[in-house]
Amino acid sequence: MYRGRFAPSPTGDLHLGSAAAALLAWLSARAAGGRLVLRVEDIDGPRVIAGAEASQLDDLRWLGLDWDEGPEVGGPYAPYRQSERYALYDEALARLAARDLVYYCDCSRAEIAAVSSAPHPGDDGPRYPGTCRPLGLRPRPWKRPPARRLAVSPRVVIVDDALQGPLVQDVAATVGDFVLQRGDGAYAYQLACVVDDLAMGITEVVRGADLLSSAPRQVLLAELLGGVPPRF
Ligand code: GLU
Repeated sequence: MYRGRFAPSPTGDLHLGSAAAALLAWLSARAAGGRLVLRVEDIDGPRVIAGAEASQLDDLRWLGLDWDEGPEVGGPYAPYRQSERYALYDEALARLAARDLVYYCDCSRAEIAAVSSAPHPGDDGPRYPGTCRPLGLRPRPWKRPPARRLAVSPRVVIVDDALQGPLVQDVAATVGDFVLQRGDGAYAYQLACVVDDLAMGITEVVRGADLLSSAPRQVLLAELLGGVPPRF
């Protein structure tokens, strides 16, 4: 059973690129006779704007789009707002930590501030060199509330994107150990997105090509969590 999703962030008005992504996700789900999930990605508290969720959903309906599961229609995988799904992210992080794949990092980096929003081109920042990795999860005098990072092993991930073609990436060499949770407790987009795509049984992700560079991280995380990543 095809299950697609559209996952807007309520950080402002629906923009044209999001409308195009939503239309294509809708077309793909409807053409396959599958289901379309609408998931609101509202975990980056400071960036969320009151009223933006309602206005984005109104705009999507005005365009003639509909969805089978979502915040106001409900569905078997509710809730459909990430801000109401923290327990699932806690559980995923604990599973990774139990396998020694998580460590505290109190380095100061612009990317730590930005990780709860999906990275669009240029947002990924430089590769994290792994400074805090040897210290693991041992408490120490923090320079600032520590983030939690994933310890990424060198391995080539291949994402065979149906439109963009194959993307071959060694995540350890390209982005390094990426952030799963910020020091203020907010979960990173990468973790929340993967946990939800797995939990909601998503089989195909249709979204802007500006998120292509996130796909290898998401495939890696899905596999570490014991799931089958969606097609992209
Ligand atoms: N919420 C993300 C954005 O609006 C999209 C994430 C995704 O589709 O994976 O940029």
